[in-house]
Amino acid sequence: MQAWRKKLVEGYQAFRAGDYNSQKALYEKLGTHGQNPDIMLIACADSRVDPTDIFDAYPGEMFVARNVANIVPPSGNDEAYHGTLAAIEYAVTVLEVDVIVVMGHESCGGIAGCLAGMGEENNTGYVGSWVSILNDAKNELVRKMDNRGNLQYEMELEGIRQSIRNLMTYDFVSDAVEAGRLTLQGAYFGIVSAKLMLADDDGEFQEVPIQ
Ligand SMILES: [Zn+2]
Repeated sequence: MQAWRKKLVEGYQAFRAGDYNSQKALYEKLGTHGQNPDIMLIACADSRVDPTDIFDAYPGEMFVARNVANIVPPSGNDEAYHGTLAAIEYAVTVLEVDVIVVMGHESCGGIAGCLAGMGEENNTGYVGSWVSILNDAKNELVRKMDNRGNLQYEMELEGIRQSIRNLMTYDFVSDAVEAGRLTLQGAYFGIVSAKLMLADDDGEFQEVPIQ
């Protein structure tokens, strides 16, 4: 059996024998009555940063959209197909979540690609085109940092701030925020340390105590 098939089959079997037993009633309730999560999370597709693990979430608690480098594109590009935006629109207008959390992370390959100029070049495929959304934020940060400090880390944080600014370019988001029905929250996860940081009102990231 291929390693990936073994992982799928045995992982599923372990889930059925383990976690599922304690969550059976929850799955039945969610399956029968539908989902009603309070939190939407936009995270990177990176295999090391699973939001439901990091926030110890049960099925039904978080509506999660993952993409390369946890980016929200700005409005005004309506000719493209937008999976992330479809998820955001559904979360805000149908599920009426209380918060959209944009979570970035340490060692983000998408951010590294953006910093390496993938988004400036032609023929860098869908990834290059996608991370080019952060080009303006990157150029501004590079100018401001002037070769001091940790550019990768600062860009990971700036990417989160830019995606939050981009969220506000959609009327259905800004209307909900201004009416007090929706909060936009930045978060950052350090893989090696497992440290979580949350952005304050000024966009500065503050570590969350373990307890
Ligand atoms: Zn990433």
